[in-house]
Amino acid sequence: MNRKINVIYTGGTIGMIKSPETGALEPFRFKDVYEHLPMLNIIDAEIVCEEMLPLIDSSDTNPDFWKRLARRIYDNYEKYDGFVVLHGTDTMSYTASALSFLLENLSKPVILTGSQLPLGVMRTDGRENILNSIEIASAHLNGVPRVPEVCIYFENSLYRGNRTYKDNAEHFNAFMSANYPKLAEVGVNIKYNDPFIAKCSEKPLILHDEMDDNIGILKLYPGITHQAIRSVLNTPGIKAVIMETFGSGNAPSNEPFLHLLKEAVENNIIIMNVTQCKGGGTVEIGKYGASVALGKIGVVSGNDITTEAAVAKLMYLLGHNLSVQEVKHWMGIPLRGEITV
Ligand code: ASP
Repeated sequence: MNRKINVIYTGGTIGMIKSPETGALEPFRFKDVYEHLPMLNIIDAEIVCEEMLPLIDSSDTNPDFWKRLARRIYDNYEKYDGFVVLHGTDTMSYTASALSFLLENLSKPVILTGSQLPLGVMRTDGRENILNSIEIASAHLNGVPRVPEVCIYFENSLYRGNRTYKDNAEHFNAFMSANYPKLAEVGVNIKYNDPFIAKCSEKPLILHDEMDDNIGILKLYPGITHQAIRSVLNTPGIKAVIMETFGSGNAPSNEPFLHLLKEAVENNIIIMNVTQCKGGGTVEIGKYGASVALGKIGVVSGNDITTEAAVAKLMYLLGHNLSVQEVKHWMGIPLRGEITV
């Protein structure tokens, strides 16, 4: 059966072509995509390609962009069997994380992809990435979509979007998901990793379109000054801080540092402990002496969440006007498979 897939181009390298006049890379109008990708005409799905204007370099994504994209998918949800979002690679993991929270109860695939080389360049990786994403977005098993969640497809691998991070600016294999297995691998056949793929929701799709961006990131490093820490914790209006710690969630143990954190927690600022280690598990407050005090102060464990997903999840939860206790509670619960507890 022919499935109907909506391809939404938002910007980024994939939609560029070498200008015949200047030789420089310029975005092309995506309605002309069939000229650059004639295989789209023979693919076993009905494809509707659209642009979401203005096209942006993904460095310009922000909560407004995420809300617009989520709304667009929500508004067209009934018309299509799946969505493929073409997006710059630089912040694709943030957008995938944000969409996973803004679209609750998904029962259709939303697959983000892009490329390291533009579609208009001979050796582009964009061609395979788009065609495989469309095939995966159309895939069904026993009458239900095979991957009903927000994913990133890149260089033969399908990942849960809110588990990924951009790992390489040069290799075609640009994304990683260190704490969650791939959802599928593409070779001659597509091998789906079914036990790790979310189940189709039977509830109606809910669009959340509030996000609160009053958050900050405090990356610890040996020698960090108290002024540097204060500049983050004392940001006017700040409600939550992702504190990037060492190893399994460790931080300096000196009194003045702990006092700064304690003061912030007492002022109702949520401090999430997210490790700087990409893989190898989870934050374990109290495993080492260097993190025992954090637990006593009321710093919350981010478990194995990525910074990208923590940013999106905090903005999403804070957007719901929850109490500090409620936000802390929900940060510890997997809402879209973003953490393992
Ligand atoms: N700077 C570009 C972007 O993220 C890079 C890319 O598309 O891969 O929009």
